[in-house]
Amino acid sequence: MPAGQTVVAADVGGTTTRVVLVSGDELRGRTSLPTVRGDGLGDALCTTIIDLLAREGVPQSQVAAVGVSIPGPLDIDRRRVVFTGNVSLADYALADHLEGALGLPVVLDDDANCAALGEAERGAAVGAQVAVLVVVGTGIGAGIVVHGGLFRGAHSVAGEIGHINLDPSGPPCSCGDRGCFEALASGPALAARGRAAARGAAAPVLSEIAGDNLEAIDALTVIEAASRGDAGAVAALEITGQYLARGVAAVANAFDPDVIVLGGGLGRTAVMLEWARRGVHEHCIAPISGLVRVETALLGDDAGLWGAGLLARGRGG
Ligand SMILES: [Zn+2]
Repeated sequence: MPAGQTVVAADVGGTTTRVVLVSGDELRGRTSLPTVRGDGLGDALCTTIIDLLAREGVPQSQVAAVGVSIPGPLDIDRRRVVFTGNVSLADYALADHLEGALGLPVVLDDDANCAALGEAERGAAVGAQVAVLVVVGTGIGAGIVVHGGLFRGAHSVAGEIGHINLDPSGPPCSCGDRGCFEALASGPALAARGRAAARGAAAPVLSEIAGDNLEAIDALTVIEAASRGDAGAVAALEITGQYLARGVAAVANAFDPDVIVLGGGLGRTAVMLEWARRGVHEHCIAPISGLVRVETALLGDDAGLWGAGLLARGRGG
């Protein structure tokens, strides 16, 4: 499939679904809608894509394929969504559903893989031979790009770095284990430490920001309070940063990449970039400790769209 051919790219997120045309070197006709949860997702995507093509005046015959980024895991052939808690799908044949309704080839991949491919092609990992995108947000996951193509593992689930175990006696993880990287260094982990501090007397700024509603404290609130000198928030951030440093170092030791790119709501913050760089420097073996770069993701929410578009063009597979 020629690189310049027009394709449709969709990014299904926990709250918002975004759809664009990828035409040459640009994203056209940006459309977004609240994510439809459950089995209605396929029909909602079809309608959105058909409307987008009509609005942009592009006949369906000129579209080569559709690429979809979606929270995983997917099945080994990447045709079905095995399970996604935040989009309420289980064993859902999304690729076949879309192909049947649109009459176009459809490729799926998980959101971290798509974003990693986007960053490798156009963002913070351009030129890297081996790049790992570490997404630190509600959960922690990774996409691994080796020589321009995704490394998916033998069963299409490589990159589940959120379940690297950092503390066997740590807090429970969504996977059923305890003390996983994700349970210790994700946005919710930092927010939980902030809430615990705000319940005591050591976090006056955080308590003031939260008022009567401790549930309103999220990771970015804790970072803001820490930047204003709140001792409880500083301590919460420090513990989270130390775990992030160790997790990122484990990834660097395992893959020896040119660059680790930090994405996700918490991962894109300056303070976490500092901790991750420190982690590689202090916890990796030589020569990895001196050679692996750590950078912040550059494409923001567009990374997954670019990646899905590249996959639809037959790239990065
Ligand atoms: Zn886990």
